[in-house]
Amino acid sequence: QQRNPGQPEYIQAVTEVYDSLTPFLHQHSHYTAQALLERMAEPERIVMFRVCWTDDHGRVQLNRGYRVQHSMAIGPYKGGIRFHPSVNLSVLKFLAFEQTLKNALTTLPMGGAKGGADFDPKGKSPGEVMRFCQAFASELQRHIGADTDVPAGDIGVGGREVAYMAGMVKKLSNRADCVFTGKGLSFGGSLMRPEATGYGTVYFAQEMLKTRGLSMEGMRVSVSGSGNVAQYAIAKAMELGAKVLTASDSSGTVLDEQGFTPAKLAELMEVKNHHYGRISDYAARLGLPFLPGVRPWHVPVDVALPCATQNELDEADARSLIANGVCCVAEGANMPSTWQAVQCFEQADILYAPGKASNAGGVATSGLEMSQNAARMNWTHGEVDARLHAIMQGIHQACVNHGRGADGRVSYVRGANIAGFVKVADAMLAQGVL
Ligand code: NDP
Repeated sequence: QQRNPGQPEYIQAVTEVYDSLTPFLHQHSHYTAQALLERMAEPERIVMFRVCWTDDHGRVQLNRGYRVQHSMAIGPYKGGIRFHPSVNLSVLKFLAFEQTLKNALTTLPMGGAKGGADFDPKGKSPGEVMRFCQAFASELQRHIGADTDVPAGDIGVGGREVAYMAGMVKKLSNRADCVFTGKGLSFGGSLMRPEATGYGTVYFAQEMLKTRGLSMEGMRVSVSGSGNVAQYAIAKAMELGAKVLTASDSSGTVLDEQGFTPAKLAELMEVKNHHYGRISDYAARLGLPFLPGVRPWHVPVDVALPCATQNELDEADARSLIANGVCCVAEGANMPSTWQAVQCFEQADILYAPGKASNAGGVATSGLEMSQNAARMNWTHGEVDARLHAIMQGIHQACVNHGRGADGRVSYVRGANIAGFVKVADAMLAQGVL
């Protein structure tokens, strides 16, 4: 806390991991040597920079850009770029710390990083978005490279923004290195990358349900958010026979008691991805009830998939979900549940997966995109999906192996933290004091 004043999200993420690791560390004392935990809580490098750009009225605008290069212990720094007004050092440090453990869980050789800017893409013209992305990338390019640091998208950064940034990096470096993942298919992207995080989250939920003899078929599901992760979580849940009742954004929730259909999802994607509209616009188009200022967690469901942002599901929300009979919560977003909410789920023996395990499919598929780029090959949709599915099953198994307690119950929180930590810690120990 003293080293990171005014960084509540970062302290929350580190404390959650350390709390769950404590009993394991008591039994494996070599991991407490060499200030390993302290080193892991200190990012290897942080870059902060000024981003100046010109708006449509010719006015100069100013934002702050960041890249937190957290750990290179097991591979090049890897993690998304977020454009949102709430971006600050605390948020990006928490995301980079989580990313290091998540990337280790994928078993692919990727370190951890996160970056972004306090830029708000909402209400900006396409030209303004392009100029901002180019200004941001013109500084970021000094710090990244295919063997150094490979950024991707996150909140506010989708295929369009990745393309603008990758284009600027290419122009300035005069190299065709595919430094970003999440690229368009026309310039080195991988099939299935847009779908990967949402699909992976549902694959993980499916594995958890199997341990209790259940499946997604016929489940009532609530999803929060309506961006990239939410859209493909809805798609895969529907495909597996579930009824998805909600989607949301920061202004409220749409409640659809009949459930999403492929046609409704196509409409949502049209509103969100092509018109950069609001979930209320979608509700209005389909004549569905819109609940302003309300989160989806009071709707009775069997499975909840938080896919929006950090701390969007608190203790009261968790209690409401539990009282209404939820049996499985799989996080598509990063740290969407507060620590109190997590404890409620675990105490009630709900199947609960933390984001670093259940949403790792996105970065795993980014790792597959890096492999395809390095080999100058493109895998088919089916090949990438099969690998993604196998990776999610592998992460689930690692969580079960490391998370089973003396009473036989599995804590996916403990399992994910121990499995990720051991991989990074072993690599750090082997490489000496750096
Ligand atoms: P998008 O920008 O595509 O969508 C974000 C969604 O979350 C929007 O619906 C947005 O609504 C909502 N949201 C953002 N901030 C808030 C807030 N403060 N309160 C309520 N809703 C909010 O981002 P992604 O779908 O890519 O990312 C969603 C989450 O998934 C993030 O936590 C991200 O870190 C995580 N993630 C993403 C991966 C990926 O591959 N994209 C990989 C792994 C994790 P609004 O438009 O109102 O802001």
